[in-house]
Amino acid sequence: MTTADTFKPRVRTRFAPSPTGFIHLGNIRSALYPWAFARAQGGDFILRIEDTDLERSTQAAVDVILEGMAWLGLDPDEGPYYQMQRMDRYKQVLAELQAAGHVYPCYMSVAELDALRERQMAAKLKPRYDGTWRPEPGKQLPPVPEGVQPVLRFRNPLGGVVAWDDKVKGRIEIRNDELDDLVIARPDGTPTYNFCVVVDDIDMRITHVIRGDDHVNNTPRQINIFRALGHKPPVYAHLPTVLNEQGEKMSKRSGAKPVTQYRDEGYLPDAMVNYLARLGWSHGDDEIFSRAQFLKWFDLDHLGRSAAQFDEAKLRWVNAQHLKAMRDEDLAPLVAWQLERRGIAADERLAVICGLFKDRCDTTAALADWAQVFYAEVQPSADDLAKHVTEAVRPALASLQTKLATIDWTVPAIGAAIKETLAEHGLKMPQLAMPVRVLVMGTPQTPSLDATLALHQREKVLERLRSA
Ligand code: GLU
Repeated sequence: MTTADTFKPRVRTRFAPSPTGFIHLGNIRSALYPWAFARAQGGDFILRIEDTDLERSTQAAVDVILEGMAWLGLDPDEGPYYQMQRMDRYKQVLAELQAAGHVYPCYMSVAELDALRERQMAAKLKPRYDGTWRPEPGKQLPPVPEGVQPVLRFRNPLGGVVAWDDKVKGRIEIRNDELDDLVIARPDGTPTYNFCVVVDDIDMRITHVIRGDDHVNNTPRQINIFRALGHKPPVYAHLPTVLNEQGEKMSKRSGAKPVTQYRDEGYLPDAMVNYLARLGWSHGDDEIFSRAQFLKWFDLDHLGRSAAQFDEAKLRWVNAQHLKAMRDEDLAPLVAWQLERRGIAADERLAVICGLFKDRCDTTAALADWAQVFYAEVQPSADDLAKHVTEAVRPALASLQTKLATIDWTVPAIGAAIKETLAEHGLKMPQLAMPVRVLVMGTPQTPSLDATLALHQREKVLERLRSA
C-alpha cells in the first residue's frame, strides 16, 4: 500500500442552513451531527448561510441560527460564510466551466418549456428538458432568438450511472438518463442553488456532507458537477426526516418552535444535545450521556435509517436527568437568567435553593418558579388558605411566629421551634407544616419545612405568617 492509499484528509464538515424560516429542532440536528463528527475526528466544522433566496431570507432567521448554535455549544471553526458574499466566486467558476465546454446557453422560453412539459405529461413521460439547445457534433441548433437572455445549462453526462455509498442509506445509483441538463445560471447570470453548493463544498474542502434527506435528489446532480470541475465528491450521509408528535414532517408551518424557544423554556444545552443526538443515532442502549461521551462515541455508522419522531415528554425527562446531575453552582446562573427575564434579581442563596428544589423540576424555568418564592411575593390560592389555614391552627401559628422571631436562623433551630410548637399545641407535623407552607411558600407541597424556611429571610417568613 502506498502513502497515497493511506492518506486521509483532515475531516471537514459543514452546516448549510437557509435562513428562510426559524430554525427548529429538526433542522438543528443537521448541525449537531456534522459538528459532532468533526469534533470526534479532530476535524473542522464550518457554518455556511445559504441566503441566495433573497425574497425569503431574513436577518431574524440568521440570528436564530447563530443564537441557537451558540446556545447549544455547536461552535463553528470557520464561518459563518454567506453565499450572497461569494457571488463573484461562483461566476468565476461558472466561466471556467463554460470555457471547458460543460455549460451551454439555452434560449427556450418559459412558454416553450411549459408546452414541452404538457406534451410529456400527456404522453405519461417524466417532465424533463429535452436538450434542444445542447450542442452535439454535427447537430444543427435552432436560430438564436433576438433579444432573449439565455439561461446556462449544465451538460449532464449521457448514459451510465451516478452512484455513491451513502453513510445512512447505503448504495444509491441513479441513471444519468434520469437527470436532465440542469439550469445553473439564470438569464441575469446569477448562479443557481445546486451549483453554488458544489463550489462551496469544493472551496471549503468539505470531506463529509451530512444533511437532511430532502437533498438526496440533488446529490447525483451535484456529484456530476463535482466531476466536471475535476473534483472528487465528498462522502454523503443523508439523515432521515424528524417527524413531529403528530407524525408529520417537522416544520414551522406545523407548529415547530424555533430552537431558541427551548432555551427560554428552561432546557439545558447538554440535555438538548443528548436528546437530539438520540433522535437518529444510537450508542447501544445509552439514553443519558454527557457531551463529552457523545463526542467520544459519535460515528456515522450508527445513524438510524428511519425517520425519528420528536417526543416532548421524553425531552423533558432527558432534561430533568441532566438538571438533577448538574452542580448547584452551575445551575444557579441559568436560573438567575430565568428570574432576570421575569424582572427578579437573585442573590447568593440561589445555588442552595437550586439544590433543594432541583429534584422536583424538569426545567430551569420550573426551578425559577420555586426560586421566585424567595425573591418575590407569593399568592396562595383561596382554596389552599381555606383548607389549611384554619381557625384551629391560628394559635399555633402565632406561637411559632413568636419563637421564630428570636431563635438563631439555622435549620436545626427552626426545626426545634417547629417541634416545640407542635408539642405545646398537641398537633401533628402536617397540621402545622401545611398552613406554614401555604403562607410562606404559596403552596402546601415543598421540601422539608425547616430547610425551606432557613433559606428565607427571617423577616419575610414572619411577615407572611402574620398575613394569616
Ligand atoms: N441550504 C440547505 C437547506 O437548508 C442545505 C443544503 C445542504 O446541506 O447541502 O436545506
